[in-house]
Formats: sequence, C-alpha cells, structure tokens
Amino acid sequence: MPTASQATAPPPATRTATSADGATGEAAPAVALRARAVTRTYGTGAGTVTALDAVDLDIARGAFTAIMGASGSGKSTLLHVLAGLDEVDSGSIELEGTEITTLRDDPLTRLRRERIGFVFQSFNLLPMLTAEQNILLPLELAGTRVDRAWLDTLATAFGIADRLDHLPSQLSGGQIQRVAIARALVTSPAVVFADEPTGNLDSRTTEEVLDFLRLSVDEFGQTVVMVTHERDAAERADRILTLADGQIAGDEDLRALRARRAQPAERDQHAQQPTQAPLAGQEPR
Ligand code: ADP
Ligand code: MG
Repeated sequence: MPTASQATAPPPATRTATSADGATGEAAPAVALRARAVTRTYGTGAGTVTALDAVDLDIARGAFTAIMGASGSGKSTLLHVLAGLDEVDSGSIELEGTEITTLRDDPLTRLRRERIGFVFQSFNLLPMLTAEQNILLPLELAGTRVDRAWLDTLATAFGIADRLDHLPSQLSGGQIQRVAIARALVTSPAVVFADEPTGNLDSRTTEEVLDFLRLSVDEFGQTVVMVTHERDAAERADRILTLADGQIAGDEDLRALRARRAQPAERDQHAQQPTQAPLAGQEPR
C-alpha cells in the first residue's frame, strides 16, 4: 500500500483545481469534464458503426471514475474523444469549461499537454531517459517550469525518490508503473485518463497500480478516468459507468453504496440489492 500520508500540498494549479469552495476567487467548477450528445461513428453507408450514441456525461472533479462494458461497447472511443485524441461527429465536450471539440490543432495540442494526463497500458517509458527525466517529460513538452517540490512530493508519495536517476531497465515492473503514473500527474492535469492500465499485469501488480491511482485521487485530488473490463478493478473507483452499444447503460455511485454499507441499519439491507446486482451487458472476459 502507498504510504504518502505526509505528502505536501500540490502545486498551485492543483490547489486551485481542488478548492471546491472557490476561495481562490477563481471559479473552480465541480465538473471537470462534461459531454453532451456525443456521437462518434466509423465508416459510411451500410457499414456504419455507431461507437458512441448521443452520450451525456459529467465527470466530477477529484473523483475516480471507472468505465466498463463489453468489448466493442465504445470504451476506448469514449476515452479518446474525452481526451481530445479523436474527433466526434456531433455533440459537445467541455474540459474545465473549455469546449474541446472545436479547438484547432495548436490549442488542442497545448490543452492535451497541459491539462490532460495519460497512463498507457504499456506504460511507455522512454528507455534512454532516467525515471526523473521520464516524469518531467510532459513539463518539458509543455515548456512549463519544473516545480522541484512537486516532483519530490510525487516521488516520495510513489516510493521512487531513491530511483529517480535509474533507467527503466534498472527498475522493477512496479516501479516502472509508478513512474508512469507520476508522469501523468506531473502537470497537475484536469483529468488523468488510463485505458486498461492493469490489462497486462499479474494480480499483485494490478493491485499496486490501483492503489496508486487511488492515492492520486485521495492524496492529490486528481480526477481519474479509467477504462477496465475487470469488475474488481472498477470497484476501486468512486463510480462505475457501464457502456453498452455506445450508450451509458449503467451508472453506479460506489461512494454512496459504501456509505450505506457502513450503516448497520437492517432496513437498508433490501435497498442495497439493486445497486449491488451486476449490470446487464457486462464484459464477459
Ligand atoms: P471498446 O474499447 O469498448 O472495446 P471501441 O471504442 O474500441 O470499444 O469500439 C467501439 C466500436 O467502434 C466497435 O464496434 C469497433 O469495432 C468500432 N471501431 C472502433 N475504432 C474503429 C475504427 N478506427 N474504425 C472502424 N471501427 C472502429
Ligand atoms: Mg478498448
């Protein structure tokens, strides 16, 4: 388990982003990401595939959201359009109030570099760069000044402070994943996206990755959106959205569910049943 209880405060961007009371004077919207009537099709004519079918979605700031669904249900497409990596046919996507579907290339690239973090399934560290250089790469690409204190905070929280000058080949699998997650957080992005981050991992390493994504949310107020087809992994999140045929077929609030489970009152026993039951159309794998 991560041991980062003494983590210092994140840099100003995150502090502003997580102060829901608006004490900084700057509006800090409670919704990090808002999608309205987002439709994405592939192909034309009789072969048209509707990957996303008029999806409406609000992702709360500082929440850990899991996206589940059968293979082909639209999970990757949703992640890609929300992250500005893929275009939509129609609809609106606002990241912290900025409409991204109509952004031109340059501002979109800048927004991706500065406001979005990614954790890839393969973790994608550059082999010729040290752990520290890998973590700092997004800042370098964005031309943003390195905040040493924030780097130290992340490295300590992720247990890699004494590994920063090592090359990926000198790191364990678990350390590589922690470097990759720290890299996704280094710009204090509005949202960190992870597409099946535990897809290739054994159960122990899977738990570790989930622990550190959870830590990112709980310690640093990071907003995280993770695609997974594993129910166990999804249950580490605060909310599980289930996609079926490009539409949102399920939306479970796990925080409310956990709060209810924590209550001993017997009258809640029956009320829990529907929320606990697995949703239809779930991933068979
Ligand atoms: P998931 O990640 O849930 O498996 P995807 O978002 O990858 O689903 O795919 C949703 C649907 O869109 C599927 O029917 C898939 O075949 C189709 N699709 C995805 N990408 C493309 C593409 N580049 N060209 C054509 N069809 C695609
Ligand atoms: Mg996919």
